[in-house]
Amino acid sequence: MFIRLFQHRLSTFMHIPRSLINTSSLIEQCWQCQRKLDRNECPSYCPCEKHVLLPVRSEIDYFRLFDLSRSFEIDTKQLTRMFRNTMKFLHPDLFTNKSDIEKKYSQDQSALLNGAYKTLLSPLARAHYLLKLENITIEESPVQLESDFLQYIMEINEQLVDEDNDQKPFPIELAIKMRQEIDDHMKELSNALNTMDLEKAKEILARLQYFNNIDDKLTNLEVKHGII
Ligand SMILES: [Zn+2]
Repeated sequence: MFIRLFQHRLSTFMHIPRSLINTSSLIEQCWQCQRKLDRNECPSYCPCEKHVLLPVRSEIDYFRLFDLSRSFEIDTKQLTRMFRNTMKFLHPDLFTNKSDIEKKYSQDQSALLNGAYKTLLSPLARAHYLLKLENITIEESPVQLESDFLQYIMEINEQLVDEDNDQKPFPIELAIKMRQEIDDHMKELSNALNTMDLEKAKEILARLQYFNNIDDKLTNLEVKHGII
């Protein structure tokens, strides 16, 4: 069982209390049937009719859009299923004969759903998003990684420059090692997020960005060698 991030206490370094972020209900009236709705329960459309779209509310987090618990570990099959099912009711093509405001709701909701889907589908983007929900971004407070790690990364990058040579075979051992590093770091990231060790999660994410960059170079080499 994975722990829902939201059920944990705030860490001391966070800037704003969690209670101010998103736990309260968002009550709003449906513009069509006038019923009162909790937008956390109805993020996209009113239950009165699936084509009655509601305006986008920025307070609703991406996980709610797909009926998922706020957690790093998600069921990506459910994510994709929910994305497709919900998009069937939001797509702007369905609203070409509707009012301007309904067209706007459709465009806004579709754009939000697309962005949310891409964010939650990618483990790294999902981790960044979870930290952002806790008011933490790597851009605003960069992680200072230790010099040994940076040296290690520099050496691998130098090795990759050497490997980018038509005479040399694909560096399979290096690729296996780097992909193992990524797997190990992903497990650590998952643990850190599940236990709300957010500073640790931020540090692992910073490391993973370096490994991902290396993985991109390895993928380019694989293409060059006709492996993929
Ligand atoms: Zn309604």
